[in-house]
Amino acid sequence: MKLPFSESYKIKMVEPLRRSTRREREQWIKEAKYNLFNLRSDQVFIDLLTDSGTGAMSDRQWAEIMLGDESYAGSSSYYKLKNAIREITGFPHFLPTHQGRAAENVLFSAMIKEGDLIPGNSHFDTTKGHIEYRRAKAIDCTIDEAFDTTLDHPFKGNINLEKLEKVLKENNREKIPMIIVTVTCNSSGGQPVSMKNLRDVRKLADMYEIPVFFDSARFAENAYFIKIREKGYADKNIREIVLEMFSYADGMTMSSKKDAIVNMGGFIAMRDKELFNRASIFNILFEGFISYGGMSGRDMNALAMGLYEGTEFDYLETRINQVAYLGEKLKEHGVPVQYPFGGHAIFVDAKRFLPQIPQEELIAQTLAVELYLESGVRGVEIGTLLADRDPETRENRYPELELLRLTIPRRVYTRDHMDYVAVALSNVYDRRELIRKGFVIVNEAPILRHFTVELDRA
Ligand SMILES: *Cc1c(COP(=O)(O)O)cnc(C)c1O
Repeated sequence: MKLPFSESYKIKMVEPLRRSTRREREQWIKEAKYNLFNLRSDQVFIDLLTDSGTGAMSDRQWAEIMLGDESYAGSSSYYKLKNAIREITGFPHFLPTHQGRAAENVLFSAMIKEGDLIPGNSHFDTTKGHIEYRRAKAIDCTIDEAFDTTLDHPFKGNINLEKLEKVLKENNREKIPMIIVTVTCNSSGGQPVSMKNLRDVRKLADMYEIPVFFDSARFAENAYFIKIREKGYADKNIREIVLEMFSYADGMTMSSKKDAIVNMGGFIAMRDKELFNRASIFNILFEGFISYGGMSGRDMNALAMGLYEGTEFDYLETRINQVAYLGEKLKEHGVPVQYPFGGHAIFVDAKRFLPQIPQEELIAQTLAVELYLESGVRGVEIGTLLADRDPETRENRYPELELLRLTIPRRVYTRDHMDYVAVALSNVYDRRELIRKGFVIVNEAPILRHFTVELDRA
């Protein structure tokens, strides 16, 4: 018999989980104003809200914590991280920041001004938030195939080159400070961008002399998909693929809470010394001196180790197989899930799950609440709440897709946990026709409203 697949690590330390009853959950979610961000973590049994900062560090990372150098300037931890970043990404200059959005804040302060246009592939919400906060505009150039959840396409994160060229051609070069390519593309479902697409974007950008930056939170998962799916990469190792990917960029922003498997941290890396100098000013202003930027020495050590571990094939294979395992279970039961499965999460197509709920009543949020009530599993809405209002007209933006995201933390849950989630959501699917009403917004913030929004039953 062929030996079955199994995880590439074992468990050394455990954390108890608290079970709850449906009656308790009904009370708690009401008190939370039907916003899952307002739940206390002990009110959640399996937490699939996000894979951001929720991963389990390895024994080697914890060992690095003890070796941290807390010197204000020039610490050995800073140089350890600088070397890891140069080795893995090829970028000679870097600035540490406290997380990914801080990297965006620093880089955009140095590069983006009012009225600018920033084309890319389905910009992440904080990226878009930082662009719009500067009264600039994010232009989505993702391929159309990304928006059909049933279509099998290996690289749904790709940029449509005609859409991109149209933006570059029709606008003054001074108005386009950068192109941002998100790898993998979180907002379109953790979908990868092919090496060919990265290369083609680079060529186009060179023609119009526009810098290219990667929003790199899940660069290693992207590299794994290139190895598995793209012709010519099967025999290359992950590190070689990562180096080639970044060779097509001028720089990157990183949320280390994702593929670098730490609980907090981020950075910016770039090739251009002059940009590094300009961005350093904002780093010192917002984050801290350039040799720590909001991170302690021990955290930079753990992050350096996380970059190496996060780019190991065996780790990535375990991670992406676990996500696909959950996806397959749901698919077998008939639950409409996005296909192919993303790297960090399974996306449930809520419009097809609950066709009776109108989009104004927040379809994906309705499904997220139902799953929580059923099982104590916390997923997250990627739909109308997240899409927020148009900054100019203040009208609600209704996105093409209403998704419930089940995000899998790295190295945290077991296969039994995935089975539990699959049965929970399948139970909701079996009684889906009994769900007649969604939610209305009672209270919302002017920007990034999904974190704090208050809802009531429609
Ligand atoms: C998480 C994430 C960010 C923001 O990073 P934070 O560490 O949460 O501030 C930016 N872009 C992408 C693609 C992300 O996934």
